[in-house]
Amino acid sequence: MTRTPADERQADVIVVGAGPAGASTAYHLAQAGADVLLLEKAFFPRDKICGDGLTPRAVRQLVAMGFDLDEPGWQKNAGLRIVGAGHRLELPWPDLTTFPPYGAVRTRMDLDELLARHAQKSGARLVEGTSVTGPVLDERTGRVVGVTAKPVDDRGRRIGDEVTYRAPVVVACDGVSSRLATALGHERRENRPMAVAVRAYYTTPRHDDPWMESWLELWDGKPKESNLLPGYGWIFAVGDGTANVGLGILNSSAAFQHVDYKQILRTWLATTPEEWGFRDENMVGRIGSAALPMGFNRKPHVTHGMLLVGDSGGMVNPFNGEGIDYALEAGHMAADTILQALALPDGEARERVLQGYAAALDAAYGGYFTLGRVFAKMIGNPTFMKQATKYGLPRHGLMRFLLKLMANLTDPRDGDASDRIINALSKVAPDA
Ligand SMILES: Cc1cc2nc3c(=O)[nH]c(=O)nc-3n(C[C@H](O)[C@H](O)[C@H](O)COP(=O)(O)OP(=O)(O)OC[C@H]3O[C@@H](n4cnc5c(N)ncnc54)[C@H](O)[C@@H]3O)c2cc1C
Repeated sequence: MTRTPADERQADVIVVGAGPAGASTAYHLAQAGADVLLLEKAFFPRDKICGDGLTPRAVRQLVAMGFDLDEPGWQKNAGLRIVGAGHRLELPWPDLTTFPPYGAVRTRMDLDELLARHAQKSGARLVEGTSVTGPVLDERTGRVVGVTAKPVDDRGRRIGDEVTYRAPVVVACDGVSSRLATALGHERRENRPMAVAVRAYYTTPRHDDPWMESWLELWDGKPKESNLLPGYGWIFAVGDGTANVGLGILNSSAAFQHVDYKQILRTWLATTPEEWGFRDENMVGRIGSAALPMGFNRKPHVTHGMLLVGDSGGMVNPFNGEGIDYALEAGHMAADTILQALALPDGEARERVLQGYAAALDAAYGGYFTLGRVFAKMIGNPTFMKQATKYGLPRHGLMRFLLKLMANLTDPRDGDASDRIINALSKVAPDA
């Protein structure tokens, strides 16, 4: 049967934004047979400013979606190297039954196209060059029953008339600024953690380092003889001749948004060994910056019948700035909920089932993100951080515990003592 243009703009579910959140939501829905429209304003391949780091938590999601990380293009890694207070500590990813023992790095230019095409192959209808302009509300119920959108070219310029897409369920996966959520009056919560980070790619002999590297202190010269710069740095080997190098500053820091981030990156990197190559002449592309919305900094996660997934719902882990995994996981949860809701007739019972998505998110991350908020507040204080780095780093047992805590890597059952402590703390902490 051929579809008319009007049919083509109807679906069971509309997913707005084809980043990790949207691709995951659309993939899981389409796998189960739902008719999904995945609307994306850009054209793939497209870049997204990111550190490109995937912890074992993210790897687990990717494997569950059918990706084989032994194929070329995935730079697998063994754990985290932490640099600070004169120490370089290598901590292997924890040995768990729930998560694989390795992480990975893949540029977002590649990763996001892979994910979006994967959703497309499973049956989702991906429409690129379609910039969603706002929600369409049902006059009687106030529910979101569609979106308006304009066709755009690869520079975001409008190239045609606005059109309307319709579906009984709409999912906002439109990133940190979430036009859809803000159109419904949901701005970000100012009392939740937020970070701004910058990153650049450099050609470097360190491009195949088997460790993801994290710097707890950044100096503008020789450590201790110079000044401490604000923020935390990373060096993530991409495996293609380059590394993704960047730094982030939390809003709990006095320097947040009051400093020239790009200059701080250059100043820090000038102190790294020349042979690593982190100098302007080896930079590939430009330094880019973007925000990380953390600890559920936008709620509610279900509003007017619309679900928020990933950065639109502020789902970056405040402990470590990881957002890809949470976008993938929440996408899966949203898809499961929507499938159950669509199996019911339109009405109150269906709405109640959709609300279950918000409850599932709170149950999975609410307490843990609250702990993360406290942590983010503490590490924004340079005096605390200085003492913590000095006394914490030499203690390997403590650092192994912290790695599990910060990367949210524990076994839910039959884990060791640290798993039980982290799980218990996350359980008793109030929802974020
Ligand atoms: C500098 C930096 C470093 C980071 N490092 C890491 C890291 O190493 N590891 C990690 O896990 N996380 C990292 N993060 C966080 C991570 O990038 C995000 O959490 C993740 O991208 C969230 O995925 P998402 O799908 O929710 O949003 P996005 O990836 O932002 O995707 C949103 C999509 O929606 C599309 N869109 C937006 N508006 C519209 C519209 N109106 N109409 C149609 N389409 C639209 C966009 O084009 C985009 O494709 C980092 C973030 C920053 C800023």
